[in-house]
Amino acid sequence: MVQFQSANSPSKAISVHIHPKLRWLMLARVLFTALLLGATIIFQSRLGSTTNPLVGLIYVLIAAIFVLSLIYAALFPKITRHELFAFIQIAIDSFIVSLIVLITGGFFSLFTFLYLVVIIYASMILYLRGGLLIAIFSSIQYAALVIAQFTEVAPCLAAVADGSPGRLDGLYVTYKILITTAAGFAVAVLSGMLTEQNRKTQKELTTMEAHLKRVEKMAYMGEMAAGLAHEIKNPLASLVGSIQILKEDLRYNPDHERLMDIVLRETDRLGTLVNDFLFFARPPAGKPEILDLEEAICDIVQLFEKDTHHARHVEIKQTLSPGIRVLMDSAHLRQIIWNLLLNAAEAVSEDGRIEIHAVAIKNNEVSVHVIDNGCGIADNVIQTIFDPFFTTKSEGTGLGLSIVHRILEAYDSRLQVQSELGKGTTFSFTLKRSGKVH
Ligand code: ADP
Repeated sequence: MVQFQSANSPSKAISVHIHPKLRWLMLARVLFTALLLGATIIFQSRLGSTTNPLVGLIYVLIAAIFVLSLIYAALFPKITRHELFAFIQIAIDSFIVSLIVLITGGFFSLFTFLYLVVIIYASMILYLRGGLLIAIFSSIQYAALVIAQFTEVAPCLAAVADGSPGRLDGLYVTYKILITTAAGFAVAVLSGMLTEQNRKTQKELTTMEAHLKRVEKMAYMGEMAAGLAHEIKNPLASLVGSIQILKEDLRYNPDHERLMDIVLRETDRLGTLVNDFLFFARPPAGKPEILDLEEAICDIVQLFEKDTHHARHVEIKQTLSPGIRVLMDSAHLRQIIWNLLLNAAEAVSEDGRIEIHAVAIKNNEVSVHVIDNGCGIADNVIQTIFDPFFTTKSEGTGLGLSIVHRILEAYDSRLQVQSELGKGTTFSFTLKRSGKVH
């Protein structure tokens, strides 16, 4: 499976996810406030004018939330830092919950659960880190509120405690603060972890979907074009043969010789392209054998370094763990490594650096990386580099990576790329480790 990762900052990605959630939060807040308004009106009409005068404060609070919602809605299209905007809104929500708790009895309030609601949506929107920050903020507010009420620091708070603060037992108060704080943190961790998990699953699904689409496209194109390529191959061979005979037998002037050479060179290029394409469209099954990966990669690198046309004297640093075996067709391995080295060599300047690593990882697998410090790949191109015929080179065929992808697919492996423009590129894939070398 092909995966790509651009060097986009994670905060940019988070910001994209936050935008719709924030809109929902703002809507839900208005609905909740309307509900609170309705409930307060019903409550007051039932109890008449004898109700607690503090209920009046609820109306002030409701009005404040409506005004805040209007301000948020006005700022929403202009704000670029959605994460910070969401954090400020949720922190204010947590403060409003403290006011609701205070008005409705502080320590005795039935509304402390609202802190948990705020922490849950903080984790859903701002992930684990945001959830934990809001849990800390809420705990501090709740503890300060209850301690102030309990110690009569603010006597007006004692009034809402439905009686003398002396009624409150110190141990019980501490116990309740601890329990509320622990509940807040537990909720933040659990919902934060769930949201993180959900985000990962979504990302995997998107990658999987992109891969499936690519495989479908490749299979379709492959089927169509393989037949055509086959048809081209035979006439091409006859053409080359005939021209070679003509070249030897005919008498012609030097200009004609130059033209003949061009025909031969171009038919040769066409032949390579057709062969590459046939390999991509219908890769040969190959004869898997147990290979010593260190040895096999060393040989390929040596050959590559000798091929002066391609390697351009760039030194290739190898970090290969010894004793790793894989079950693979040696020609397939050569094709994969060669194509990746070739791209790396073409991407780096004269004093560039190329590294190849093969290290054992968990699950009895080996991870292979081809790293270069070359030109890197632009963000808007990285998704298309695996498409057949996509190339940014004047002489490129755009089939190198498609072939690597195709071969790795046969070994249940996926080619991944990480790149940063101007800094370099890393291609990596994993292979299953195998038993002994013959
Ligand atoms: P080709 O090499 O013929 O262009 P490939 O399929 O091998 O075809 O590569 C497709 C494109 O991917 C290249 O044209 C290049 O733009 C990009 N690419 C591949 N490897 C690298 C690399 N190591 N560094 C920068 N760009 C790369």
